[in-house]
Amino acid sequence: MAKYIGPVCKLCRREGEKLFLKGERCFTPKCAFERRSFAPGQHGRSGSRGRSGGGRESDYGRQLRAKQRARRVYGVLERQFRRYYEVSLKRRGLTGLNLLQILESRLDNVVYRLGYASSRAEARLLVTHGHFMVNGRRTDVPSMLLKDGDIVTVRDGSAQLAYFKDLAALAEARNNPAWLDRDIKKLSGTMQRLPERAEIDGNLNEQLIVEYYSR
Ligand code: SF4
Repeated sequence: MAKYIGPVCKLCRREGEKLFLKGERCFTPKCAFERRSFAPGQHGRSGSRGRSGGGRESDYGRQLRAKQRARRVYGVLERQFRRYYEVSLKRRGLTGLNLLQILESRLDNVVYRLGYASSRAEARLLVTHGHFMVNGRRTDVPSMLLKDGDIVTVRDGSAQLAYFKDLAALAEARNNPAWLDRDIKKLSGTMQRLPERAEIDGNLNEQLIVEYYSR
């Protein structure tokens, strides 16, 4: 599965906010957004985001930014993101919420939410290296969509690695959402249900994303 391999911190600077894509580094003074909170590129300081007050953004601009922001938060490329939108259209209920729930139920996101990785990017790497199992079967597909009752565990062989030996203490310090039942001793977690809207990043604007794709 293709993934974005460009500079990550530029994405935060482009969106004008911290997207927390680099795990622990995002909470240190090394964070690029803390040091340069203007958009990247030659006109970063003087462009619409760099100007104090900024220019008035068009509806399309706001819709595009909302969509890009969500894509970047979850680390999904455009084609896959549009596919998720099309699936969410076919599901019953609110399209925007369906879309966010699909994104949240990705295996890499669930590993991150369980606190077994410091960022979604790290979770994705751990999954692609085959360190996790879903319902007892090894998988290396970060985009795998989980459903109610699915159980994620660290593979027995991987649990002996230094990273996973230290993981319980690290995970303990990280919050675990109510829709995931975590067993830190076993380094596992069960998806109880899909998250409700209040349990998903409040800065995401799914309405604008739906407007973007239904233009
Ligand atoms: Fe964004 Fe984290 Fe980079 Fe800061 S360190 S700019 S929050 S990805």
